Amino acid sequence: MTANLLLLPGDGIGPEVTVQVRRVIEWLAKNRNVSFTLDEDLVGGASLTKHDTPITDAAMEKAMKADAVLFGAVGGPQWDRNAFDKKPERGLLRLRKDMELFANLRPALCFPALTDASSLKPELVSGLDIMIVRELTGGVYFGEPRGIETLADGSRKAVDTQLYTTEEVRRIARVAFDLARKRKGEVHSAEKSNVMHTGVLWREEVTHVHATEYRELKLQHILADNAAMQLVRNPKQFDVIVTDNLFGDILSDEAAMLTGSLGMLPSASLGAKDAVSGKSRALYEPIHGSAPDIAGQNKANPIAAVLSFAMCLRYSLDDEANAALVESAVSAVLDQGLRTGDIMQPGKQLVSTTQMADAILKALDAKAR
Ligand code: NAD
Repeated sequence: MTANLLLLPGDGIGPEVTVQVRRVIEWLAKNRNVSFTLDEDLVGGASLTKHDTPITDAAMEKAMKADAVLFGAVGGPQWDRNAFDKKPERGLLRLRKDMELFANLRPALCFPALTDASSLKPELVSGLDIMIVRELTGGVYFGEPRGIETLADGSRKAVDTQLYTTEEVRRIARVAFDLARKRKGEVHSAEKSNVMHTGVLWREEVTHVHATEYRELKLQHILADNAAMQLVRNPKQFDVIVTDNLFGDILSDEAAMLTGSLGMLPSASLGAKDAVSGKSRALYEPIHGSAPDIAGQNKANPIAAVLSFAMCLRYSLDDEANAALVESAVSAVLDQGLRTGDIMQPGKQLVSTTQMADAILKALDAKAR
C-alpha cells in the first residue's frame, strides 16, 4: 500500500522541524519497504503571504484526500495584527473543521533519559505513558448561544454554552476504548457530573458505550478536578483519559508538562471514518507553536514533530513496527546524551536541529541492521 501524506510545514520553526520529518520518511521508504507519496503545501502566515488566505481551497482539497496530514506550526508576530479571518491560526481551524477532527490524542510519555527534566519527582514520572483523548469539536468552545451583551443598566453579560449530544459523546468514547484495547485496557472518563448536566449525559453515554461494546475493558469515572489533582499526585495510575473539549484542554496541557519540554510532545487529531474506505481523516502535529524566538537558527527540537509522525505510522498507517522503531531511535539519541537547547541538562551535549535529526537517522540505521 502507498500512503499519501501531505506536509504542511507552516511558519517559524514549522518548516525546520518538518524537513527533518521528511528525512525520516525518506529513510523508511528506502530501508523499510514502506511506500509513501509526499506532497507539500502552504498554511498559516506562509499561505497568507503568497495567497492572501491562511489556507487555499486547493491545499484543503489535498488535505481531505490525504491518508494523513503532517502539520508543522503556524503564526508569528508579523501577523498578530491581522483581521480575524486573516490570522495564520485560521488555517489550522479550517483543517480541523473541514476534516471533522473531533478526537485529539495527546500522549504524555516520559523517556527514561529525561526523567530529571520533569517538575515532579523522578519516581512519579519514570515510565509514565498516558494518553489523553480530548473531544475537539464540541462543548463550550462552540455551543450556542455565546457572546457578550450590554444590559439596559450599562453593565455587561457574557454567555458560553456547554453542549453535548449522545453521538458526540459516544464517538469520542469509542476512540478512547479502541486505544485502551491496544494499551493497558483501562479508561478514565473525566467530567463534572456533580454540577453539570453535560457531565451527567457524558457519564451515562460513556457507561452505555462501555457496557454494550467494550465490556472487557475497565472503565472508571472521575471528576475532572480530581483528575487534575491525581495527575500531579500519582500520574502513573492512568492509562487512557477521555474528556470533553474544555477539561481536555486543561488536563492535556497539565499531563504534557509532566514530561518536560514542549519540543518533545506530539499529538494526533482524528476525524470521522470515511463511509467508503473506512479510514479516519487525520492530522498530526507537534503541540508547540512556531517559536519565533528561535526560528531560522537551527535550534528547534525536531523530536515532537518526529514523534507525531510515529503516531501517524501507528494510527493512520497501522504500522506499529515502524512507529515503535522511530520511537526507539528517539529514545536512543536521548540515551546518548544529545540535547537541543530546550531539553539541555548539565553534562549533556548541545546539538542543533539538524544534528539531532542526523543522530535519529543514525540510530535508525543501527537498529535496522
Ligand atoms: P511556542 O510553542 O511557539 O513557544 C513557546 C516557547 O517554547 C518558546 O520559547 C520556544 O522557543 C519554545 N519552543 C517551542 N517549541 C520548541 C521546539 N520544538 N524546540 C525548542 N524550543 C521550542 O508558543 P508561543 O511562543 O506562545 O507562540 C508562538 C507563535 O506560535 C504564536 O504566533 C502562536 O499563535 C503560535 N502557536 C501556534 C500553534 C500551532 O500552530 N498549533 C500552537 C501554539 C502557538
